[in-house]
Amino acid sequence: MPELPEVETVREGLKLYLEGQTIAKVDIFTSKLRWMLPTHLAQSLSEQTITAISRRGKYLLLEVSNGNYLIIHLGMSGSFAIHSTHGFPHYISEKRHQHDHVVFHLLNGTVITYNDPRKFGMMDLVAGHNLRTYPRLKLLGMEPLGNGFDEVYLTKQLKKRTSPVKNVLLDQKVIAGIGNIYASESLWRAGISPMQKANRVTHKKVGNLVIAIREVLNDAIKSGGSTLRNYRSIAGNLGYFQHQFSVYDQEGKPCKTPNCTSLIKRIVQTGRSTFYCPSCQK
Ligand SMILES: [Zn+2]
Repeated sequence: MPELPEVETVREGLKLYLEGQTIAKVDIFTSKLRWMLPTHLAQSLSEQTITAISRRGKYLLLEVSNGNYLIIHLGMSGSFAIHSTHGFPHYISEKRHQHDHVVFHLLNGTVITYNDPRKFGMMDLVAGHNLRTYPRLKLLGMEPLGNGFDEVYLTKQLKKRTSPVKNVLLDQKVIAGIGNIYASESLWRAGISPMQKANRVTHKKVGNLVIAIREVLNDAIKSGGSTLRNYRSIAGNLGYFQHQFSVYDQEGKPCKTPNCTSLIKRIVQTGRSTFYCPSCQK
């Protein structure tokens, strides 16, 4: 499932090909992803120029020239592919991939396909003046790479909660954009046990956690960005990149902390896998 760094990489990729371009038409091949698609989606987007592409948590926001926003969430398996006239495989509508649900045709000939085998993604259209009150966005917590995310904010949030600290990191109302992968990675880097009760994390460790979260996300964005630079040669999908993880999915492998001889463990917390080092994380 894409988390903040993957969504940010997709944003950067889409920005290269979409920003400033005009949509000629949109073909929609399904009535529903996770939720129903707006019936007027194709009509409302055609002949609109994409003026800006931003991100909030795991949501992408495409602003178009009439002031509307196309809001996109990639869900579990959503991705975009670019078929431009320069160096990419051409888009041939008869050979549309099975799970290409939404196809954007730009005036300049570029075609962008949205593919989503599991259909947990979402697309919605919202008027600019309703953006602030849009339900899925207004409840989102702090952007972890924004200026407001600091020790004071995180301490206040953790103090109110007795659930395991990892569960708090996954709560989108507290921090927007962190999922299962980067929660495990951040806690390992900060030396905090994922089972530790949130309100018991020491002041010093909360400071370490803020730094760890920022580093882990920035490293992943950097690695996504370098994948993006090779994108023309790999012609892959915009959405999933190979990252080097320290603990995520590393069960049974040696911990990467120098001089630590422990093996990475996997446990299940509220139905989701957590990976951690039993020696380094207390
Ligand atoms: Zn260790």
